[in-house]
Amino acid sequence: MTRIIETIEEMREWSASLRAEGKTIGYVPTMGYLHEGHLALVAEAHRVSDVVVMSIFVNPTQFGPNEDFDSYPRDLPRDAALAADAGVDCIFAPSTEEMYPADGGIRIVPGPIAQQMCGASRPTHFDGVLQVLLKLFNIVSPTDAFFGLKDAQQVAVVETFVRDFNVPVRIHRVPIVRERDGLAKSSRNVHLTEQERKEAPAIYRALQAGKEALETGMSPHEVKRQVATEIERDTSGTIDYVELLDYPSLGEPTEDRERILACAVQFPTVRLIDNVIIKGSEQR
Ligand code: AMP
Repeated sequence: MTRIIETIEEMREWSASLRAEGKTIGYVPTMGYLHEGHLALVAEAHRVSDVVVMSIFVNPTQFGPNEDFDSYPRDLPRDAALAADAGVDCIFAPSTEEMYPADGGIRIVPGPIAQQMCGASRPTHFDGVLQVLLKLFNIVSPTDAFFGLKDAQQVAVVETFVRDFNVPVRIHRVPIVRERDGLAKSSRNVHLTEQERKEAPAIYRALQAGKEALETGMSPHEVKRQVATEIERDTSGTIDYVELLDYPSLGEPTEDRERILACAVQFPTVRLIDNVIIKGSEQR
């Protein structure tokens, strides 16, 4: 039985009782409308932890003024059934009022790691992500938390935050889960038109081709140009960015260290992101 908790007080009490029994709590933060990507995080949480908590909360503070907060897909009964099938022990699904009864105006400023890639076109996005995560960590009190590499910049920002602020939670990275045609699974994919859905696998194809080109000696500049050209040729979307950076520092890339080749593509109502990680020569 999956327990559904809607108040901070009840969530705290539940976690405290499990902690008192010496249990480890694996935590999967989500915005709901679950798919296999989310369920891969749950599977990893089960592997590592005694109990698994998932939060479902579409956090308003990480959306910009003209973004898709209102139209973001929501379906708690459907999510609860999927989470129950996946063996989630507890869903924390607070209302916006429960999470943000008042705004004292204090913000977390994530610094340069949050200013490029998605942060360049979504300048306050990661402030909102860290704000809600710190609150959720303080409410759920997990020992471990699980994040998908689909949002690779988020992983990098969260790992940095946890390290810099000594937040007592272990962060785990989970690989991207894809559709059979390569498109990274995302709650937002349901908003693609039929035509856009047909085009969208071109994003991953272009990233993979870029990775191969890089590994066979093409310059980073040329690789980024090639990826952008292919996506523009094969989709009706507009390139927001194509970046090649060190991962997870998001600093200047070098061949000996792990790098990320990432992009964001804007369709009329959906912005898709995807990435591939390239091992450094030190790791091969
Ligand atoms: P979201 O509900 O989109 O905020 O995502 C919640 C968590 O699921 C984040 O850690 C995401 O990175 C992760 N996630 C979303 N899509 C995928 C995917 N296709 N593969 C792996 N993890 C994912």
